[in-house]
Amino acid sequence: MKKPFVTACGTIANRNLLIIRLFADGIVGLGECSANVDPIYSPETIKGCRHIIEDFILPSLLGKKIDDIDEVAASMSHVVGNHMAKSAVELAFWDIMSRQRGVSVSSLLGGTKTRVDAGVSVGMFGTLEETLEEARVQLAKGFTRLKVKIQPGHDVQLISSLRKHLGDIQLMADANSSYSLKQAGMLQALDPYGLTQIEQPLENDDIVDHAALQKSLRTPICLDESVVHAHAARQAIDLEACRIINVKLARVSGLLEAKRIHDLCVKTDTGLWCGSMLESGVGMMYNIIYSSLPGVNQPGDIQESCHYMSDDIVEPMIDVAGDGTFAVPAEPGIGVSLNWEKIRRYLVSSEVFRPC
Ligand code: MG
Repeated sequence: MKKPFVTACGTIANRNLLIIRLFADGIVGLGECSANVDPIYSPETIKGCRHIIEDFILPSLLGKKIDDIDEVAASMSHVVGNHMAKSAVELAFWDIMSRQRGVSVSSLLGGTKTRVDAGVSVGMFGTLEETLEEARVQLAKGFTRLKVKIQPGHDVQLISSLRKHLGDIQLMADANSSYSLKQAGMLQALDPYGLTQIEQPLENDDIVDHAALQKSLRTPICLDESVVHAHAARQAIDLEACRIINVKLARVSGLLEAKRIHDLCVKTDTGLWCGSMLESGVGMMYNIIYSSLPGVNQPGDIQESCHYMSDDIVEPMIDVAGDGTFAVPAEPGIGVSLNWEKIRRYLVSSEVFRPC
């Protein structure tokens, strides 16, 4: 990382990446596992995902005839949970299907946009001045909304200061599960500042308490960690626990389940955007593709190559336009390939798996 990324969950100072290359009918599909080294955002870790993929997912897929993405999901259904491991493999299948059928991944999914709006997420800094400085640098790149990280004691002063100095920008706060329902007053104190949303204020697996909290807040709640599949999204919407959902493809096991959540959000008029997990350009392209769906109606955490990390492993590198938008790949595939010179430079280990 260029700078450590600090949230209420913990600090990410180095980013290890797990990239999947899946081979079928002479086509190579790319996927990325978005888990972290430490289980600070989700219970899954890179090491754990590698074990699940190697020992439980690949044996049920390698050498099989698979015609559609539903069959991929069905082949992995014997594995409970482990959404990030499943997502890494599932995404690579979309890449393969798109190339085999000669259409873009966005069209396969039902996407309609050719460019998508992007927002930026700023981690916690030691001082208000540092946060302000970082926010100004990012807004100058054209990003249309700013997300900052909060936690108890690092909230009202920060938000009021950003509002005062940055004016009427689209501003939101992500609490990463750091508040309890008893601290609702601290979140109500943010209501006057016109945040577009407060993301995941309460526990990472909670829906019910968020429903109680939303009743006491004017600011919309956005759920992130709690929405692990479409079923959880449906419960959250039914209980009015949130008005907005942040989908991370890895958290919900890939694009197929993410599309189900999209369809539910469209049906129920729920806000929707795509979050990121500090991925390489491989994972980021899937975030851009997902954001091309018509119901993704708010700017996502989509960043250019080398935004957080000092380098990226894809070519071409991903660029943000001056208006804060990113182009959705219109051709088959995900719009980027691996830069092998960089892969060789950064590679820690690799393994090849073949059908028995
Ligand atoms: Mg979040």
